[in-house]
Amino acid sequence: MAYQAEYLWIDGSEPTREIRGKTKILADGDTPGIWGYDGSSTNQATGDNSDVVLSPVFQCPDPIRGGNNILVLCETLLTGDMSPHPTNTRAAAAAALAQYGDQEPIFGLEQEYTLINPATGWPAGFPPNGFPAPQGPYYCGVGSLKIHGRDLIERHTQACIDAGLAISGTNAEVMPGQWEFQIGPVDTVTVGDHMWVARYLLYRLAEDYEVEVSIEAKPMKGDWNGAGMHTNFSTKAMRENYDAIIAACEAMGAEGVPERHLAGYGIGIEDRLTGAHETQRFDQFSYGVSDRGASIRIPWQVAKEGKGYIEDRRPNANADPYILSTLLTNTICSALA
Ligand code: ADP
Ligand code: MN
Ligand code: MN
Ligand code: MN
Repeated sequence: MAYQAEYLWIDGSEPTREIRGKTKILADGDTPGIWGYDGSSTNQATGDNSDVVLSPVFQCPDPIRGGNNILVLCETLLTGDMSPHPTNTRAAAAAALAQYGDQEPIFGLEQEYTLINPATGWPAGFPPNGFPAPQGPYYCGVGSLKIHGRDLIERHTQACIDAGLAISGTNAEVMPGQWEFQIGPVDTVTVGDHMWVARYLLYRLAEDYEVEVSIEAKPMKGDWNGAGMHTNFSTKAMRENYDAIIAACEAMGAEGVPERHLAGYGIGIEDRLTGAHETQRFDQFSYGVSDRGASIRIPWQVAKEGKGYIEDRRPNANADPYILSTLLTNTICSALA
């Protein structure tokens, strides 16, 4: 029996990359190989030299189609010398892991996102002419007035589990219509692979619910929380002693480092990192125990036990997980080496 392989890749959309996919029918016993697509339709090539190569890097069961069908995440390569396409951010993550893998870097990413009602263009739960009650009851809330989109979230979570992704939890967020799932803890490359496939499943399942998923960092201006992608990170040394935790925080605050990192933390960072709504201002750097107003939070259990991980609270929901994991691996592992 033939089966379907959904080839997935990351496009060249500006300012925020999108996931794309197309289907290949494979004969029973065949495995997915190199493929290609029209890069002039994805902002990755010109019409006169349009082919971009798809090279499979991660595959898993397709929990939506079921059966023998699979998802095939690919990296993009240039046709000439088969080197990474300029928009291929996974290659740098793989290089960082190859260089620092002996320190066993691992990540947990908290992907926040907002469900948008396509009819109004407003977040799910926002009435067409006005605003819902102020923030307070929605975070981890229960009940019809507080919660919008639960069916989709339940289906997405089960789909991630069925695909074998390292999903570690979900919760309703502070703004109505806003949700979160977490991927991790897994290594520098795997966290990006699983996050992109989890995003694909979320967008794809949302089609069935006539709702649009947005990873915009500040979908509602004013007194509403933005959407981030808190990045939890540790190395073997950080999981064993507190000096390494502090050294990691110091490395993240060293001269020039915060600016360099923020440039890779997603578009619209200044709109979200205002100093309000559980953020530190984008132009200030701080770290502290339990401090949700700091750039980097050391969780209280980590301070208590004297080991564990740190949480970089600055990345936006619309960040590229490969860029995040590359930045943190290189900055912290080079300092701890
Ligand atoms: P909070 O909402 O309190 O900030 P979450 O529970 O949403 O925290 O996310 C915490 C994330 O940290 C999870 O994805 C988890 O997998 C990850 N994590 C736990 N331990 C470690 C560790 N030692 N190194 C890296 N990430 C970790
Ligand atoms: Mn969280
Ligand atoms: Mn959150
Ligand atoms: Mn967090």
